[in-house]
Amino acid sequence: MAKYDRNFTDELRERLSLVDVISRRVPLVKKGQNYWGCCPFHNEKTPSFSVNEDKGFYHCFGCGEHGDIISFVMKSENVDFKTAITELAAQAGLKMPDYKPKPVEQVRREESYYQIMSDACDIYQKKLFEPEGETALNYIKKRGFTDDMIKKYRIGYAPKNNIIANKFINLKQDALLATGLCRRGDFGMYDFFRDKLMFPIFNAHNQIVAFSGRSLDGSEPKYINTSDTELFHKRKTIFGFNFARDAIHRANRSIVVEGQIDAIQMQCHGFPETVAPLGTALTEDHIAILCKSNRNIIFCFDGDAAGQKAAARACDIVLPFLRDASEVKFAFVTGGKDPDDVLKTSGEPAMRKTIDQATPLVDFLWSLANAGFNVSTPGGRTQAEKFLKQKIEKITDSDLRNEYEHEYDSRKFNTWHKWKKSSQKIINIELPQIDDITKNTVIFIVNKYPEIAERYGDFLANLGIDFDSNTPDMNMGEKSAEKYIVSLKLQKYIEKLQSEKKDLTSRLLSGEDIIEEIKNIDKKLDEAQQKIDTLISI
Ligand SMILES: [Zn+2]
Repeated sequence: MAKYDRNFTDELRERLSLVDVISRRVPLVKKGQNYWGCCPFHNEKTPSFSVNEDKGFYHCFGCGEHGDIISFVMKSENVDFKTAITELAAQAGLKMPDYKPKPVEQVRREESYYQIMSDACDIYQKKLFEPEGETALNYIKKRGFTDDMIKKYRIGYAPKNNIIANKFINLKQDALLATGLCRRGDFGMYDFFRDKLMFPIFNAHNQIVAFSGRSLDGSEPKYINTSDTELFHKRKTIFGFNFARDAIHRANRSIVVEGQIDAIQMQCHGFPETVAPLGTALTEDHIAILCKSNRNIIFCFDGDAAGQKAAARACDIVLPFLRDASEVKFAFVTGGKDPDDVLKTSGEPAMRKTIDQATPLVDFLWSLANAGFNVSTPGGRTQAEKFLKQKIEKITDSDLRNEYEHEYDSRKFNTWHKWKKSSQKIINIELPQIDDITKNTVIFIVNKYPEIAERYGDFLANLGIDFDSNTPDMNMGEKSAEKYIVSLKLQKYIEKLQSEKKDLTSRLLSGEDIIEEIKNIDKKLDEAQQKIDTLISI
């Protein structure tokens, strides 16, 4: 076994789901953290064979068989190691490499790189709290980071001078260059990261493999990352995954956001299952890593054009990974905000609402087809149909692919080809139901304080309340009564705005450029909320 490159077998374990591979032979049922089935290695009727996807091994409590994805194939198919990995490689779509053992020297080298990265991180962490790091510290605090968060994510500051090149002057230059921390210039070694807020990037084993540095003086690009090195492959690394791994399993889903700060804020405010790609480019490798735990992903993007584009791209990448039990959804944060802003201004409940109301992939794809082409003409419909067909073809699960085809066929018939289109949906401006307590209070106020009833007559008349019914007996002064009516009026106004916003948001999703209108509504909502707050405080 030692003859094989550990990287390749790691890659296989990374790419393939143990549960997928085993469930081809043994039906598995999820119970708690593990999957259970009847052991393929001994005869039994009650399942005692458990599979732990996260840890990547199976264990039979009946006969004691134990192993990982490779040993499962070897034992269950009675084949040797090489045959097993050849078979698994085919399943993972990987080419078999020429096998060489990983030289001891290389292992030692990598260990030394990890050490350099960790030492460098210590230096950056210290600098953040020294006078030089003041701007960086102020910035990160302003973004809502607590000391605990700074510590947990090992955030630091790379000063303007060549601190790493100088501190590690006794080290072999090659090692320093290989970590990507330093580069060689005409005047010797210099630091790659200077005057940057530093976010370390960890691998799944919590080792630092790279850094992401944010500029502090407004210069572009905002973020620079370590270039690819022996330790770090940008395409295969997801920011925050080491912290999110367990939560992704527990929540049975992952949330993908666009930025690193967003990911950290989400993780610390109720969504520990959140990760972010590095830079904006989401790759197949990223999805493969997430799908190892489960295939339920919520992509959360900004509501602007760039966010829409990113979502369309994510959709393309995720389609081959879909299975019948997958739940892939798209959430958009509107009003020019990102998840970080939402958490800060409106808190976790607002973010949870956005996540809960995410659009399922089947609807998102449909809205892309409808927004991208003029479906009121035969030519446009043909283009939209081709677009959908092209997307559906990416689904590798054939039953699911058929189901998508049927679904869209029915939608095409019902919305594109109908003789008579149902009239445009009218925004519902009817006032929502009034509960009994509110109703009784209003009846009381109207009867007790006719001046107030007079002043707010139009509003009260529209509530649909029968004011001649029995007047309840209450204890409420005139001032409080008026406050009550005004706040009720404001609440109804807010409900109306929210329903308008919901409608606009769905139009935004179908590609209309109405961000300004939504911003406007958000402004009105803020104003109304402030008025209510003032009303309560006086
Ligand atoms: Zn067994």
